[in-house]
Amino acid sequence: MHKDLLRLMRAERSVRAHLTVTLAAAVIAGLLVLVQAELLAGVLSGRFATGALLFLAAVVGLRALLGWGQGIFAARTSTGVKSALRHRLLARLQELGPARLSGHRSGELVTLTGRGLDALDPYLTGYLPAMAVAGVVPVAVLVRLFAADLTSAVIVLITLPLIPIFGALVGMHTKAVTERQWRALSLLGGHFLDVVRGLPTLRAFGRARYQASVIQRVADSHRSATMRTLRVAFLSSLVLELCASLSLALVAVPIGLRLLGGSLDLTTALLVLLLAPEAYLPLRMMGTRFHASMEGVAAADAAFAVLDDAAAPEQPRVAVPAAAAAPEQARAVAVPASGGPPEIRLENVTVRYPGRDDPALREVSLVITPGERVALVGESGGGKSTLLHLLLGFVAPTEGRVLVDGADLAELDLTAWRDRLAFVPQRPHLFATSVADNIRLGAPSASPELVRQAAAAAHADEFVDVLPDGYDTLVGERGANLSAGQRQRLALARAFCRPDASLLLLDEPTARLDGRSEAAVVTATAELSMGRTSVIVAHRPAMIDLADRVIRIQEGRVVSDVLAAKSLVPGAGAAQAGDER
Ligand code: ADP
Ligand code: MG
Repeated sequence: MHKDLLRLMRAERSVRAHLTVTLAAAVIAGLLVLVQAELLAGVLSGRFATGALLFLAAVVGLRALLGWGQGIFAARTSTGVKSALRHRLLARLQELGPARLSGHRSGELVTLTGRGLDALDPYLTGYLPAMAVAGVVPVAVLVRLFAADLTSAVIVLITLPLIPIFGALVGMHTKAVTERQWRALSLLGGHFLDVVRGLPTLRAFGRARYQASVIQRVADSHRSATMRTLRVAFLSSLVLELCASLSLALVAVPIGLRLLGGSLDLTTALLVLLLAPEAYLPLRMMGTRFHASMEGVAAADAAFAVLDDAAAPEQPRVAVPAAAAAPEQARAVAVPASGGPPEIRLENVTVRYPGRDDPALREVSLVITPGERVALVGESGGGKSTLLHLLLGFVAPTEGRVLVDGADLAELDLTAWRDRLAFVPQRPHLFATSVADNIRLGAPSASPELVRQAAAAAHADEFVDVLPDGYDTLVGERGANLSAGQRQRLALARAFCRPDASLLLLDEPTARLDGRSEAAVVTATAELSMGRTSVIVAHRPAMIDLADRVIRIQEGRVVSDVLAAKSLVPGAGAAQAGDER
């Protein structure tokens, strides 16, 4: 029995109810076999009147009904468990955040949350009920046999354990084989996704054919792993069947001899012959179902490995006692409802990525005043994006603190905090939906008017207008039908579509733009950053010139921090914010 899965099923109320009904139906149907055998033996030996046949028919009908109910409720249990697991997995993936997820192989996760969990079906609908039946019915049959005929009961009692023993021996071997099969499958999923995404690159570098052969190899190893599992599974059912048949012969032969000798009456003999197979059957069923369910167990293990991934960055936040004790209060204090431009303070912040020796940021201390426009400059790999991700709460400081208006970001409600941000990542992601929906991603209720304004501000309107369906044009997966510059402008429009944001985080917003668009975007950024705190990673002079202050980051350290000459005359935004405080 899978412990984590059991815990999950206990936690979900409807699943628990469905599972109880399933198991009860299976066990009752199993126990009715005893009644059925009793009646049949009585009728055949002539001890019961033929009227008993009616009862017999009723029992058979009832068993059929129970089987039908068991099927329905087992399917509901399985659907419930899978959907609960998928929900938890997706929530967990969101919690883990972009920085941590890059450590996992996304293709594997896709395989797991999608088809992978379907492998749980045989486990939940087949193995679990079989296990419940195997725990109850053989014992009941044995008790009845002891009451009817001691010799036969002893033979069954001695031979019965052989089936689980052989089953376990074979099972130990299969577990290793199935786990190998599961690994091959997830490797295949991961590799396939990777190759499909990178197909243009692979073609350009003439490696597409080679990748085809790699996929073929991985698929081949999956096939042979599957065949190995099947071979073992078939072999094991052969062993179990043989074992059960021989045991039955051991019961049947003495019964026949004793019947001939006259030391046994016909009713008892028939009853024993009818019941004995029923003692072995549940164990054999369990053995067969076991193999079919192994892939599901492997999938469940993989799912719980992701769920239990303890070192998640946002977990300590939940555990902070102050925030846990009075979350409402803490939030009210931490995120001012007004949402004016925040002051940001970094105190000796060091960020280390898992698996990296050198920290991405080392002991950075900074104060960004409300309404200030800061440009981050420096060589690539210096830690500029990491600094933005820190402010977004994607990465947590390894040492030091990030304070927003004096409150530790680690104790803030991140969702409420992110509502105050407008962010343009270095590699913006577009979704396979309409242009308009992509723009209003961060403001789902934005009016078409606002969407147009945002697009105009980002200089996206000129190319959107000539698209076949304008703002309703569907963007291909990951923005495939747009140029890099167009994608960049849509990402900017997305930030411009959040006019209420009080902190602007732009990561190289003009990196893929031509000169004319760049100038326009710089103007729009200047307007948007009025009255807001903004941190802009910039390379080109036009954008840098916009800033009140230029911070140069190199190898994770702030190497220079200068006020731009023009900021000696305070900007409108800074002055306004200063008055508010
Ligand atoms: P910049 O934006 O200035 O080019 P980054 O902040 O992206 O620099 O990266 C700073 C350093 O941190 C680099 O050495 C980079 O390789 C490393 N780094 C960035 N993101 C990750 C990550 N998710 N996992 C591990 N290392 C990372
Ligand atoms: Mg960067």
